[in-house]
Amino acid sequence: AVTLVWFRDDLRISDNPALTAAADSGDDVVACYVLDEETDGIRPLGSASKWWLHHSLVALDASLTELGIPLLLRRGAAGDVIPRLVQESSAHAVVWNRRYGLTERTTDSALKSSLSDQGVDATSYQANLMYEPWEVTAGSGKAYRVFTPFWRACLASRTPRKPLPAPDALHGPHLDSDDLPTWGLLPTTPDWAEGLRDTWTPGEAGAHQRLDDFLDGAVGGYKDNRNLPALRGTSMLSPHLRFGEISPFEVWHAAQDHKDSSTAEDIRVFGSELGWREFSWQLLYFNPELATVNYRPEFNAFTWESSTEAELKAWQRGRTGYPLIDAGMRQMWQIGWMHNRVRMATASFLIKNLMIDWRVGEKWFWDCLVDADAASNAASWQWVAGSGVDASPYFRIFNPVLQSKKFDPKGAYLVRFVPELADADNVHEPWKGSAPGYPAPVVDLKESRERALSAYKALSES
Ligand code: FAD
Repeated sequence: AVTLVWFRDDLRISDNPALTAAADSGDDVVACYVLDEETDGIRPLGSASKWWLHHSLVALDASLTELGIPLLLRRGAAGDVIPRLVQESSAHAVVWNRRYGLTERTTDSALKSSLSDQGVDATSYQANLMYEPWEVTAGSGKAYRVFTPFWRACLASRTPRKPLPAPDALHGPHLDSDDLPTWGLLPTTPDWAEGLRDTWTPGEAGAHQRLDDFLDGAVGGYKDNRNLPALRGTSMLSPHLRFGEISPFEVWHAAQDHKDSSTAEDIRVFGSELGWREFSWQLLYFNPELATVNYRPEFNAFTWESSTEAELKAWQRGRTGYPLIDAGMRQMWQIGWMHNRVRMATASFLIKNLMIDWRVGEKWFWDCLVDADAASNAASWQWVAGSGVDASPYFRIFNPVLQSKKFDPKGAYLVRFVPELADADNVHEPWKGSAPGYPAPVVDLKESRERALSAYKALSES
């Protein structure tokens, strides 16, 4: 008998309940990944995520091959491809780990019922969130609107389960597979991925290495250092979590096991950041259009700036004339990741100083980030815009100059990503002196701030 394991956002062999169930069944196992760009409503991956996916699939195939079976690759609408694979392999059962977007859920439940009509048993497992979105809800069975009570209720409900070990060995038939390079996930010309290759090791081993490095190093002091972009002060686990190369249960328990009197508070704060990821997914689950629709409908009346080509381009390329904004945007361009504090500052700048619709920024991040996550990206952009739940108050407008003076006082982060500032007289406010090769500010900070305040104020009074 054959069990088909369908990998999706869980590209790992350890703590993978679907894979473990297949291995424990004693069946032959066929493992597959389906590149689905065809199902209506599926959001295609951005360019940086495609790069990541390619390498992550190579790594997963290597791990599975070591266990005894290859990873089978197919392309097309999952609703067609999975039944075809069931037929080809004569599988009597299909297993997968749950995903939480609306299109994904609809696809999965339709498949479950059509497979069961054919006598094929389809079973799904919890793997990628420590608390499923419907598990810990606000009184009315809806999403929490505020993070702190959500996370407190989650932790009070139960301790996240312990991670499962990887199976020892698997066996199964070899079916025809697509050749990964034919999927064209990697950039050709220009090859913009050099900074990504230098920074990351996609795959399960790379994920565990990041976790170990973090626990051996930056976790002590995380609470304060997580705000300093020049430091390696955070885990950089986000793309690994996004693709499920490591599970939140594994990260959670490794951190808890590492706790001692000097790191207890750092680990509590780190745990609550994992909680923000869960919170974002609960929001997305109950608000599937989070990436495109204002959570607060009053924002539908907001008038965004319409002729913004030049300003938008300056922001995207890191040429706004504001060092922190430019450093962040160039960091993302180079390595596919941006420090959290700088994500907040760059998003605030686009929305409030340039008055560009937050959805434009959300899309750009979606394309450029290796950790682009349907829930965290959308929820964070709405948070900064003030259109989401648990929003920052409208008058909170990040001042990029004050932010860099406070969080990067020596300008080390600024100069790392904007090298022409090395010769500037004033690294935080280059326009006050000479800064050869560095652009003048695209907008006046004070004027643009006033403009945003009055637009937001008008909205809050209407
Ligand atoms: P750590 O500080 O080491 O945190 C550990 C893990 O907790 C992260 O890997 C991540 O999975 C989770 N986490 C931390 N902060 C947050 C947060 N605020 N919201 C949700 N989860 C969090 N995060 C993404 O994973 N994908 C995105 O597409 C994304 N887009 C963002 C867009 C904007 C405008 C902003 C302000 C934030 C965004 N974030 C996103 C959240 C956050 O910036 C990143 O998760 C974090 O910088 C990742 O770095 P790290 O792994 O070193 O984090």
